[in-house]
Amino acid sequence: MFHTAFLDLPALDGAAGTVDLPGSKSISNRVLLLAALSEGTTVVHDLLASDDTRVMLDALRQIGCTVDEAGSTVRITGLGGHAPRSPAKLFMGNAGTAMRPLTAALALLGGEFELSGVPRMHERPIGDLVQALRQLGCLIDYLGNDGYPPLRIAHVQGVPSLALTEPIRVRGDVSSQFLTALLMALPLAAGTQSIAVEVVGELISRPYIAITLQLLERFGIVVEHQNWQRFTIVAGSRYQSPGSVHVESDASSASYFIALGALTTSATGQKGIKIQGVGLDSIQGDIRFVEAARAMGAVVTGGPNWLQVERGAWPLKAIDLDCNHIPDAAMTLAVMALYAEGTTTLRNIASWRVKETDRIAAMATELRKLGATAEEGADYIRVTPPANVADWKAASIHTYDDHRVAMCFSLAAFNPARLPVRIEDPKCVAKTFPDYFEALFSVAQVETSHIPVICIDGPTASGKGTVAAAVAQRLGYRFLDSGAMYRITALAALRAGFAIDADHEARIATLAQTLPVRFEGGKVWLGSDDVTEAIRTEEAGMNASRVSALPAVRTALVDLQHSFQRLPGLVADGRDMGTVIFPGAPLKVFLTANAACRAERRYKQLISKGFPANIDDLRADLEARDARDTSRSVAPLKPAQDALVLDNSDLTIEQAVEKVLTWWQERQPFAASAQR
Ligand code: C5P
Repeated sequence: MFHTAFLDLPALDGAAGTVDLPGSKSISNRVLLLAALSEGTTVVHDLLASDDTRVMLDALRQIGCTVDEAGSTVRITGLGGHAPRSPAKLFMGNAGTAMRPLTAALALLGGEFELSGVPRMHERPIGDLVQALRQLGCLIDYLGNDGYPPLRIAHVQGVPSLALTEPIRVRGDVSSQFLTALLMALPLAAGTQSIAVEVVGELISRPYIAITLQLLERFGIVVEHQNWQRFTIVAGSRYQSPGSVHVESDASSASYFIALGALTTSATGQKGIKIQGVGLDSIQGDIRFVEAARAMGAVVTGGPNWLQVERGAWPLKAIDLDCNHIPDAAMTLAVMALYAEGTTTLRNIASWRVKETDRIAAMATELRKLGATAEEGADYIRVTPPANVADWKAASIHTYDDHRVAMCFSLAAFNPARLPVRIEDPKCVAKTFPDYFEALFSVAQVETSHIPVICIDGPTASGKGTVAAAVAQRLGYRFLDSGAMYRITALAALRAGFAIDADHEARIATLAQTLPVRFEGGKVWLGSDDVTEAIRTEEAGMNASRVSALPAVRTALVDLQHSFQRLPGLVADGRDMGTVIFPGAPLKVFLTANAACRAERRYKQLISKGFPANIDDLRADLEARDARDTSRSVAPLKPAQDALVLDNSDLTIEQAVEKVLTWWQERQPFAASAQR
């Protein structure tokens, strides 16, 4: 996951390959609650690991369910008719799929609870659900504004006595989650009598109710409905665990990859995007995004558990569509509209206004930043792409703490103007798809030379390793410590019994070419050996300097170093990154510091790690190493012609990092719009 302030996506050329999608949020959170209300233990497979399921799992533990997590498999032993543990204060984050159903279930189960969330959750309506529950006789107070969380469910003695003879009336035109919440809670009260629920107003997002009914059935509850307006929970319904449940992949998450297949071709001739974990027979309403994508030109085939998407019509065809049945996935259509001929209108999407953010306003604002024309109404959005390639703009996309805004705008990186796209706060995708960008990068294709590289070269102990790693972390880029390659090569050579000299050059080069080196979890591995510490000694540094003066060894390590240039970008630290390995890099920094300062830093570093050190010896050593690195015939240490020299003798690490980041920002086309 990217925890950076922003993530810059370079212009992407195409995409092909297979993606495995995480479990559906809607199914995951429903299954968790149903398991919690049931008698018996339920093993939930392929559960989505995300912010929204995390808050649900934590809440279920708090109210007394036994929850065992092992990767994506979770075992839950439900309350099965026992009272929940109370009083309890439950934090719901920004998860509507946890807030609404838990409110209803806990109100009916009895006990004293406070439910709150992030500030945005406190702006998301819940009044219609609370009103329906109050009609039943539940005691619920608002702790902030009327009609919104946070809430208190008041304590009543035992199970509340409920008014169940009259149909319970609930509005269906604000959020279908109110009805879902009631349908999941009311079976707790269905004894010898049936319970009826009547929807007031048009029921939006009907497919989500269909998921609720399907899952209720799996947990032993039969609900009959007349025309989606009147629902009856049949008398005698009782929650019973089905034993085990598999969660389908998220059909809304699939929309980004369906779109990807529709709007890209592969540079290598590979065909389309294959999506695993969700198929055409999915119970999720958003699977009907497939029809919308087809209408825009996508060629989609599929089976029970997979989809295959290829580009059909190009440019895509503009559509005018009522999106009430696919409210979440429809956001993806708004970005696909950037690649369509003509104007696309998405209608009947008023619910967008009360989601994670006001999504109609958010989408319109961000689409305009890219150069599109976007018109918004109370319940529609109309998108016309930039008229010409030259009208596209490099935009920094604000994401409003809304995972879907972040994910769908990543598709703008395929723009014909070949402009990069900045996604602000990329970690917001954690709500439903923590590894979204990794999944995108696993299928996205880009000419290697277009993947940005920042080179940070300089003499020994100039601080470049620390600065380069910090810059990489701040940008979410990969990090190449090229010095480590030479250190490892020297170690491997000595272990193989080769002296480090010209006589052994060819053999050491052969060794270097097939070096079984891995960088994993902050550790460096040579085969199955953890060499993290062994390569960091002063002696290992000297040996590295000797081995690096052998031209054949340098050549042997070129491919390995190039292989680090992967999406979304690379920060490379070394001696010849800017001069030899990545000569086309858009930013090259030559980081220096005076010898006294470098000796002192190295001294502190060694002492802090518990290695013995003498500052005068260190200074003599590093000057000797610099002399060898600078005077060698191949790739000598020197600033590239176009390098910016940064003497950091009097700078803190943070100041040096900021300087490099400022230079980098100045080179970005969206630098100005990022200063929001
Ligand atoms: O940066 P570090 O001290 O780990 O590098 C160890 C040695 O490897 C350097 O002294 C230098 O001789 C060599 N090196 C190199 N080219 C690089 C990186 C390191 O020659 N790109």
